[in-house]
Amino acid sequence: MESSRIYNESTEKAKELLRLTLTILGKYQLSPNPVNYSLCYEYASKRNDELTHKLEQAFSSPSGLTAETADALYRRYVWDEDQRNIEKVRADMSSIVEETLARVGQAQSRANHSAQVLQVHSDQLADLSSTENVRNILSEVVQETRESARNGQVMKQMLEDTQGEVEALKIELARTQKEATTDPLTGLRNRRAFERAMKALMSQMGSEELTDLCLLMVDIDHFKRVNDTYGHLVGDKVIISVASLLSANVKGKDVVSRFGGEEFAVLLPDTSVINGEKVGEIIRSSVERMRIKKMDTGEALSKVTISIGVTAMKKGDDITSLIDRADKALYAAKTQGRNKVTSEI
Ligand code: GH3
Ligand code: MG
Ligand code: MG
Repeated sequence: MESSRIYNESTEKAKELLRLTLTILGKYQLSPNPVNYSLCYEYASKRNDELTHKLEQAFSSPSGLTAETADALYRRYVWDEDQRNIEKVRADMSSIVEETLARVGQAQSRANHSAQVLQVHSDQLADLSSTENVRNILSEVVQETRESARNGQVMKQMLEDTQGEVEALKIELARTQKEATTDPLTGLRNRRAFERAMKALMSQMGSEELTDLCLLMVDIDHFKRVNDTYGHLVGDKVIISVASLLSANVKGKDVVSRFGGEEFAVLLPDTSVINGEKVGEIIRSSVERMRIKKMDTGEALSKVTISIGVTAMKKGDDITSLIDRADKALYAAKTQGRNKVTSEI
């Protein structure tokens, strides 16, 4: 049997992976539902290092691979809904274009036919032996010309309709793409878009285009307390406020994202660790000075602070090692009392 486009291993290999998958499901006592099955299949095939790593972490944690984690990993690594939506819009667009081209082709052959008919008549006109003949030929010419004009009108209308459809789809595509890359609460890039931008920047490193790449991991301090004291909606407002301060304190080429719940990541191209620390310090102090009021009572919230871990890309770094180092720096800032900027070289 033919293998699928996504899973293109041979049947033999797939059978071996099936056996391995079943062993893994058994070993970790996972119910063999499609989500767990797919994850264990991916795990067995070791196709995605990041997923393999995340699954290893989950398997070795005390709670094992929970249904919640399994769902999240499945959505992130196996089922890419946003990407599917984008592909669908793209496919719709290209089928419209194909259809139009086919119709233009039809209209063209109709026009060619008209031209031929007219040519025949014009040849006949050369022989003007009787008025009757001329009248007949003229009436046929008029008819053919009308037909041709009507055809042109239909084609024009069709092209206009198609253009409208393509425009609507373009807007839809842009919207879907934006949705797939934007965090809805803050309007910042989401983690997926951030990692994509990060990959692109990391691949430029070492060339003349990019000499330094600094990464800041930002985490709101004791955020659980904010939620517990004032409720989730106020918590959301704090996240939005920190996000806008981050955006306000970076420059054009910098990349700001909401990395997860109350965590943000900032990439500063052409910036050394020392200068990254300075940017971090500006951000940290502006958050410390920020005053948020509760919407209903106008009551001011107690001070919100953030901790920041700073690092810069080194030779041999990949996304994971760079983020891990920034996380380590962030952890140091937390253990040193929070509301601090700490770096790790
Ligand atoms: P630390 O100083 O060590 O970072 O402590 P913390 O309380 O900030 O860290 P912890 O990771 O324990 O808690 C983060 C909390 O953030 C838990 C979670 O409920 C909350 N959170 C995550 N995403 C959102 C969100 O979108 N809105 C709100 N309101 N809360 C969120
Ligand atoms: Mg956190
Ligand atoms: Mg926190």
